[in-house]
Amino acid sequence: MNKHNVLNILFPRCCPVCKELLQDESQLICISCESRLLYNSGPVCLKCGKPVEYEETEYCYDCYKKKHHYERGYSVFLYDDIMKQLIGDFKYRNKKEYADLFVHRIVERRGRAITELGLDAIIPIPVHPAKKRYRGYNQAQVLSEGIGKALSIPVVSDILKRNRNTMPQKQLNDIERLRNLEKAFIFDERNTKKAEKLGIRLQKVLLVDDIYTTGSTMEACTKILLANGVSTVYFVSLCTGRGL
Ligand SMILES: [Zn+2]
Ligand SMILES: [Zn+2]
Repeated sequence: MNKHNVLNILFPRCCPVCKELLQDESQLICISCESRLLYNSGPVCLKCGKPVEYEETEYCYDCYKKKHHYERGYSVFLYDDIMKQLIGDFKYRNKKEYADLFVHRIVERRGRAITELGLDAIIPIPVHPAKKRYRGYNQAQVLSEGIGKALSIPVVSDILKRNRNTMPQKQLNDIERLRNLEKAFIFDERNTKKAEKLGIRLQKVLLVDDIYTTGSTMEACTKILLANGVSTVYFVSLCTGRGL
């Protein structure tokens, strides 16, 4: 019996949504809650990956209006009440094991598209070190490692760092938001040498985060990477907000 099986007997897995015990250890969510998950499975914006109403619509209103520096983004779920609860538990209530479900669905739904990008590396959106200490992990890093392992893409988590606590984004308008965020991330050049030594180029990279809403975090991180020699930035987020 492997360690995983022993853990399942000692701590049987519960459905992350309804909290009922799962019958089968390979199950990550119960069948009835699975049917309530809201996948981003309709037509999407070719830039940011948010849902759009019609198949013929290439870009969402937001992407027509604003220039995003990343090449293209993908997401798996729409951000609804269930995802809000699941991500909240994952981030703040120590439910690190939910990453298994999240990674599984990201790989199942977007794995092929991600593989076809021919990526050099995956880079998680960093959290502030104080937050990481408090939570014990960076949720985007946990997702990145799962995706990287499943798709055999190296994860480089120490070149993009959080600089300092930023002002609460909610109180700011779009422009202030971006300015605030651009100061919040730093590119740690010393660690690119480490990546190079491991044979990892940093030309085409995939940023990973749990939620994509206004896109300002993704945009800030993309700009920093592009300014430091990365040529193309893609992203995948577990959830996305609806198109504006
Ligand atoms: Zn359930
Ligand atoms: Zn868009």
